[in-house]
Amino acid sequence: MRKLHAENIAEFIEPFRVKPGSKVVLERDFDPAFKAGVAKKNEGKDLLRQGIELLADYQARLAAQDTYGVLVVLQALDAAGKDGTIRHVMSGVNPQGVRVHSFKVPSSEELDHDFLWRYAQRLPARGEISIFNRSHYEEVLVVRVHPENLDRQKLPNEAKAKGVWERRYREINDWERYLVDNGFRVAKLFLNLSKEEQRVRFLRRCDLPDHNWKFSASDARERQYWDKYQTAFSEMLSNTSTEWAPWWVIPADRKWFMRIAAAAVIGQTLIKINPDYPRVSDEQRRQLLEVKSELEAQAPKGAAPDPFEERVLAKQNAHSTASQHGD
Ligand code: AMP
Ligand code: MG
Repeated sequence: MRKLHAENIAEFIEPFRVKPGSKVVLERDFDPAFKAGVAKKNEGKDLLRQGIELLADYQARLAAQDTYGVLVVLQALDAAGKDGTIRHVMSGVNPQGVRVHSFKVPSSEELDHDFLWRYAQRLPARGEISIFNRSHYEEVLVVRVHPENLDRQKLPNEAKAKGVWERRYREINDWERYLVDNGFRVAKLFLNLSKEEQRVRFLRRCDLPDHNWKFSASDARERQYWDKYQTAFSEMLSNTSTEWAPWWVIPADRKWFMRIAAAAVIGQTLIKINPDYPRVSDEQRRQLLEVKSELEAQAPKGAAPDPFEERVLAKQNAHSTASQHGD
């Protein structure tokens, strides 16, 4: 049975990586139903649990170290399962260390600024993970597929003239490089859903009363722009997968596999940072020992001076006896 851990995670996620500089044609290069030979029942559950545990462990260290931050970018078409992925994959981590930001149609205040302004306000602090549920990439996706969005951005003529998308790719790449240089890693996940699986999921929203609230006629109508979106996604992946912030195309037709793959990619980002708990200085250690003996001196009559230390020693003894017997 496969295991997800620091040694083999890079190999597991390699098929999802968009090689910087490569020219992507989404439907040709990435299969939305890929599952890396994993069987859902036997292996899938275990792998997700391992991924969630790995994230929880590394996130705690990231927060304690307080030096690096992580930006997770989630892009997808409707019904690919962004919300469910966030819910499952982050279910083990301390909520104090993670923020989720969803980006909708920009407000008039947001439209009054440069196009990266609203995203810059929601970047992670050091020690934090920030998840963008939709992101600055909408600026080269929905805005490109529906150019009336660009008209609303109040740009001067020269800024929306020919070459606007190439310029935006470059500006996004530069911005992400600036973040990485400052200690903020960027994990970009595109949840890749097939057209047929999207149709089935929309029908599910129509058919199941508890899911009716998710149904949106405009989401369903957006399917007529499917090919335009596929082209916009392919262009985005080709132009903005960089050495410092590569894209990962996550197969999304099987929700259970998508969650494992997403956990693995975010996990690998943290593994590469390899954050560690801070060590105390000699001076801090001296103070700590001083306080320890003061607390021990305050033990009431009959109580152990340091019951915690006694418990730790007892545990260690039990462990070494057991391993001697085991040999
Ligand atoms: P949802 O994520 O389903 O709540 O929908 C949010 C909507 O906001 C989607 O239809 C997006 O296409 C739209 N949206 C997000 N960012 C932008 C943007 N920068 N410009 C225009 N529309 C956007
Ligand atoms: Mg929607």
